[in-house]
Amino acid sequence: MEYSKLVEVYEQLNKTTKRLEKTHIISEFLREVSADDMEHVMLLLEGRVFSNYDAREIGVASRLMLKSLGVATGISVDKIENEWKKQGDLGLVAEAIVKTKKQATLHSTKLTVKKVFDNLRKLAELKGEGTVERKTQLIAELLTSAKPIESKYIVKTVLGEMRIGVGEGAMRDAIVWAFFGNKIGIKYTREMNDIEVEDREIYNKYADAVQHAYDVTNEFALVAKAAKSKGLEGLGNIGMKVGIPIQVMLALKCDTIEEAFETVGKPAAIEFKYDGFRIQGHKDEKGNIRLFTRRLEDVTAQFPDVVEFIKKNVRGKSFIIDSEAVGYNKKTGKYLPFQNISQRIKRKYDIDKMSQDFPVEVNVFDIINYEGKSMINEEFEKRRKLLEKIIKQEPKKIVLSKSKIVSDKKDVEKLFKDAINAGNEGLMFKSLNAPYKPGARVGYMIKFKQIMETLDLVITGAEWGEGKRAKWMSSYRIACIDESGNFVEIGKASTGLKEKEEEGLSFMEMTKILKPLIISEKGKEVKVKPKIVIEVGYDEIQKSPTYEGGFALRFPRVQGLRQDKGPHEASTLDYVKKLYAGQKKS
Ligand code: AMP
Repeated sequence: MEYSKLVEVYEQLNKTTKRLEKTHIISEFLREVSADDMEHVMLLLEGRVFSNYDAREIGVASRLMLKSLGVATGISVDKIENEWKKQGDLGLVAEAIVKTKKQATLHSTKLTVKKVFDNLRKLAELKGEGTVERKTQLIAELLTSAKPIESKYIVKTVLGEMRIGVGEGAMRDAIVWAFFGNKIGIKYTREMNDIEVEDREIYNKYADAVQHAYDVTNEFALVAKAAKSKGLEGLGNIGMKVGIPIQVMLALKCDTIEEAFETVGKPAAIEFKYDGFRIQGHKDEKGNIRLFTRRLEDVTAQFPDVVEFIKKNVRGKSFIIDSEAVGYNKKTGKYLPFQNISQRIKRKYDIDKMSQDFPVEVNVFDIINYEGKSMINEEFEKRRKLLEKIIKQEPKKIVLSKSKIVSDKKDVEKLFKDAINAGNEGLMFKSLNAPYKPGARVGYMIKFKQIMETLDLVITGAEWGEGKRAKWMSSYRIACIDESGNFVEIGKASTGLKEKEEEGLSFMEMTKILKPLIISEKGKEVKVKPKIVIEVGYDEIQKSPTYEGGFALRFPRVQGLRQDKGPHEASTLDYVKKLYAGQKKS
């Protein structure tokens, strides 16, 4: 296919911002593309020559581009640079100068998509001495044959500045319309910017097949090629390949335990929700390990430690596992928030030092492929059992995610507390019989970051009421304990107690309890010996300069006495801090 055809499409796409129109333009175009050209066209359409997950880059900066333009057009680099300063866009500069150039060799041959693609790929592969010269030649060769408008897009693609403004959903639809449009009976009208579909159900069937193929390959180029050459069956046969990342399953969010159980069913596997970053670990039959982030970037080079853990501690000829790598403090062993290790992800040098200074523990929670067999349609419980069999756990290296099968709210509350205390973000609820759904935010996995965890706080003071409450202490100063065992106030609670004794814990009863503990009184204010622990609910924990601990409860309410607890068993300031941090992330 001639490159100019693709350029025409770029131009059309640039002229509209309408999603449906863009989809239509791409779908019409894809019908014309041969199966052989399909991969190249699809990648170039998105301004790439490598898959999303491929760490290779074209690696050409503006300087080198200026030089190449100079070689191709015979115009001095200084002059081109001046133009660039004026225009601000090297693609436009290229278009303008290629238009005015006079050399006889220009436009000598027609550029093909394949030629452009091949030269751009070569750019990434060049290494060692003479690289700059070779790169310059490869680009200049293209520019010499390019029409002005073509040179604009070549320059943009080489510099990684191509944007067609087409998202994943539109790309998927374009493939559906292009290759299954007749079967679905789809009609697009430009004037109305609208589509008509004869049968939505059939449409969805094809859309799902395309989406699934994309989820497991992560590459529209492969999906379009399969759809073009082998139709629906071809899409179904696209399997995942170890070494190529698959879209990760995403979690829904629930705010209450009841809601979470309703979505995933009871009993459910409840796991710690680690505050790290997702790593999809692949091992192929040759023993090569590759690591990908949730956004499918290849981070193998950045995590040699994780590569080792997987190599040594996970049994199996080949597999794909899903996990969360969590940073920990190498002195105390305590988990650290994600920010502390995030710098490792992009790091290109001092890798070994980084892995020593910012060690991570891999918490494995799912398996996607095992010894050539896709596991995604197996039930979660079965996948977990397999993990238990193949992973040799070594704390601070690689372990299974903490998981417990429960159906009782109380058990969940306890686990939540344990999770927060261990420095985690909260919990994950997992449906025991659910498959692994790549790329989807379905109700098989629920994140639960915030429980309105009640606090057990000590009453350190109170205030006499007014009006009909004048004979009662009706507002209570409440405190948690800091590291040194001091009581640190974090609010004043005046709701939750009843006016009538028969209704529950009443102001009268509380007044009776506190009166003997009074240390001093000033106006309405009373100081009491810190003896009484109460359970306190609230809406939110806020930062507050008013209180010495730095935190305050919003809308605190007394939920009852904790007669079973002594004052030194009250909630700690550290725990309040952790709840505050968890709140912010959700
Ligand atoms: P969020 O990033 O808030 O949407 O939460 C989902 C993320 O939690 C996943 O992408 C994982 O990176 C992370 N995560 C932490 N612990 C687990 C776990 N036990 N199971 C699944 N995902 C987990």
